[in-house]
Amino acid sequence: MLDSGSTTKIYTLFGPPGSGKGTAVRRLVRESSGVVTLSTGDLCRKHVSEGTDIGIEINKYTSVGNLVPDEIISAMVLEWVKEKDRDEKVEIVFLDGFPRSVGQVDALCDGFDCAGSNFAVVVFDLDDDEAEKRLSMRVVCGNKECQEIYSASTEPADGKCTHCGAEVVHRLDDDAGVIACRISGYRETENSIMERYGNCGAKVLHVNAKQDVPGVYDEFCEKIGFSSK
Ligand SMILES: [Zn+2]
Repeated sequence: MLDSGSTTKIYTLFGPPGSGKGTAVRRLVRESSGVVTLSTGDLCRKHVSEGTDIGIEINKYTSVGNLVPDEIISAMVLEWVKEKDRDEKVEIVFLDGFPRSVGQVDALCDGFDCAGSNFAVVVFDLDDDEAEKRLSMRVVCGNKECQEIYSASTEPADGKCTHCGAEVVHRLDDDAGVIACRISGYRETENSIMERYGNCGAKVLHVNAKQDVPGVYDEFCEKIGFSSK
């Protein structure tokens, strides 16, 4: 549990690939102070490269091509959130790509007061056809630190990221077969995860992700009570 008196708000982001949640959050982090977002993959790599206890554990699985068990991922994420709360006193923490399974939701609900006012699930609603269409057209900034995503309509004409100037590239995992797989993978776990959140009384906020990028951003800020102006 977080210390009592903790004021850090925790939002988990949920929505199919292509729903624009990453884009919306990156913009909010860029334009605001006291707002941070976690990429579980990046945090895993950091632990592994720094050789922490968690990193050594992770490496035992990934080095032989196995998935890292929920308990390890959850412990790592909870520790990270507690650090942000206790040491950095950040205002808002976004969790993107976590929790990904019911087991991870369980761990999150054990670690935090999910029914409390400082926690909410933000769901980006988008139908499969639209998600598929967007993923097949998008390009992403090749700079690992940036990873800004562009759609067909926002793709920079000169092929350079408008934020950091790096080359934008078409992602391999945005190919048709992989896209269909990612979307169906999301739908398979969606119901069980939302049901688990419902059981613990977590607040759920919905964002209509079928709008254009600025529209999604504005509604996202409005739903979490953050002034984007
Ligand atoms: Zn960039």
